[in-house]
Amino acid sequence: DAAISIRSVSKYYVSGNGKKTKALDSVDLTVNRGEFVSIIGPSGCGKTTMLKMVGGILGWDHGEVEVLGKAVEGPGPERATVFQSFALLPWMTVIDNVSFGLKVRGVAKPERYNIARGLLKSVGLGDFEHAYPRQLSGGMQQRVGLARALAVSPQVLLMDEPFSAIDAQTRLILQTDLLDIWSKTDLSVLFITHAMDEAVFLSDKVVIMGARPGHVTEVIDVDLPRP
Ligand code: ADP
Ligand code: ADP
Repeated sequence: DAAISIRSVSKYYVSGNGKKTKALDSVDLTVNRGEFVSIIGPSGCGKTTMLKMVGGILGWDHGEVEVLGKAVEGPGPERATVFQSFALLPWMTVIDNVSFGLKVRGVAKPERYNIARGLLKSVGLGDFEHAYPRQLSGGMQQRVGLARALAVSPQVLLMDEPFSAIDAQTRLILQTDLLDIWSKTDLSVLFITHAMDEAVFLSDKVVIMGARPGHVTEVIDVDLPRP
């Protein structure tokens, strides 16, 4: 079965004064196992809403959302999310940030540090384990964010415009690193962006949203050679 299956999903937000905003209108989307799928669309078309539903941190009103064949009922250990804003814990060192999810799962310190060190090395931050997030550039912080997400060995990686706050040159390096990691694992990735070049560079499939708000307009299979 699919890594992610969204079927006929609709979502309304209700604001304080009772006003309803339709954020998603009967949306369908499938991410197959091992596939890298990007969602592209203008601000406000419902991309983040969709990702949060798959992540299990936001409910919906109609339809079905499944991950690895199971209905989503909340967050789960098989999914990890990388945010645009990095969302690192500022009072923790880099290695503690990366191994935090393992700590929560009860993995002993030597083992979780071992895993975190391997990941920090693979994202080029082997020498920065004792640094604090504020001492790192945006690009470096997002490497930490990626290492933290991968530390829990997720099968599904959700990414919400992870590189859009990062300069163009660093972004290209991070995109290449991400593809390298993805190609060595059987990770399924759902990646939000508003940049078509990024979507085409990274993905097997590009899902275009937003001609009408909350709608998937088109799904394009990308068949380009990648690094
Ligand atoms: P995107 O990620 O594509 O920019 P969002 O998923 O953030 O889009 O938002 C989709 C729509 O839902 C927009 O109209 C947005 O204003 C609305 N929306 C998002 N979050 C909330 C919220 N917490 N309360 C009310 N409306 C919201
Ligand atoms: P709602 O429109 O339902 O208020 P929110 O955008 O506030 O939706 O998010 C819903 C849930 O997701 C909240 O419990 C919030 O704490 C959580 N959440 C939102 N953004 C993040 C994030 N960046 N990291 C972790 N949890 C988040």
